[in-house]
Order: sequence, then C-alpha cells, then structure tokens
Amino acid sequence: MKGGGPMLMGTSTFVVDAAVEGATVLVDRSCGRCGTCRAGAGLWCSVPAAEGRSVSPRVPVAAAAALRAGVLAAAALLEAPRARTTLVVAEPGSPTAVLAGRMLDGLVLAAPSLTDEAVRAQVAEREPSGRAAVVMAGADVRSAVRAVRRGGHVCVVHASPDSRPSVTELVQREVTLLAPRQVTPVLDRLSEPDWAAAVAAVTAA
Ligand SMILES: [Zn+2]
Repeated sequence: MKGGGPMLMGTSTFVVDAAVEGATVLVDRSCGRCGTCRAGAGLWCSVPAAEGRSVSPRVPVAAAAALRAGVLAAAALLEAPRARTTLVVAEPGSPTAVLAGRMLDGLVLAAPSLTDEAVRAQVAEREPSGRAAVVMAGADVRSAVRAVRRGGHVCVVHASPDSRPSVTELVQREVTLLAPRQVTPVLDRLSEPDWAAAVAAVTAA
C-alpha cells in the first residue's frame, strides 16, 4: 500500500470526544511536530497528545461517528490525483457523500453499491473507459478495485477482512490503494455551512 498506511483503521489521532449533554466535538490529537506528522501523516502521529484540540463545532453525539467517517473518507480522497469523475460508495446525501462533494473539484457521484445502474450510466457518459479514475471504497474494497479504471486509485478507510483485493488483482489492474494520512487539509476547508450540511445529512439518514 502506498505510503505504508494501514489498511484497517484502528486507532488514529482523529477521535470523537466524550459527550456532554448530548453533544460532542471531533478532536485531533496529533502533535504536529514528530517525524510522522511532519511527513504529512498526522493521523498516525507517533506521540499523540493526551488531550488534543477540538476541530469541529459541537455536534450531536448521534452524528459524531458518521461525521468522523466522512472526514476520514474526504482525507483519503484528497490523497488521490484530481479526477474528472469520482465514485463514492455511500448513500447519496450521507455525510461521506456530502463532504466528498464539497472537497473535490470534479463530479462526485455517490451510490451505495457499485452495481447501481443509474450511476454506472452517469460514469459511462463522462468517461471513455466507462469507469471512474477514483473510487472511494465501502467495506468491500475488492469490488472497488474491480470497478475503478485501470491505473486508477481506490481510497480506503475501512475494509472488511474478507473483501481485500489480492496483490495480483492490484498489479494486474495497476490500481493504487490510498488510506487517509491527515485530516488537517479537510478540516481547513470545512466552513460552518459545510458542517451544518454534514450534520443535516446524518439527521436525514
Ligand atoms: Zn506527531
């Protein structure tokens, strides 16, 4: 995996804080000074702070995990080269889909399944290969590797152990897997209305 990032997101320095009266904040515990942080991989900071600093507005506890997942997905997508069409495996209107749409310049299409006919048709209209150059995988990473364009990039935040692509599949299709390395570039670009839209997306789901 490029950059040696972990395939399975275990503990990282980007966490949900303790709840206070039904609300919480997302916290960044990266130190910003160690070699890992300076290499742009603050999510895997080697000497994380015990407290950390809050990096979101106060959000409902029930929404926090989905917002964290959405920010991590956006962070993974920012590791990929710019693409005309990005396919995100997520419910349209979910925080992951909303945040990806606000982060990326090209068209972002979201569908819960890579076999979604309507989305496949939309990709085919725009891409000569019929495939997106970048796919944000859901838990089934292998399907994403098969769906992306040859030589394309598949972004991964979490993977179920039985759905990992084989090395052969990756090499044959020249696909690069990307994990999130830092959340700061995402957080820097999120405005109050962006957070509000993401929270609304959770509430609507
Ligand atoms: Zn650090």
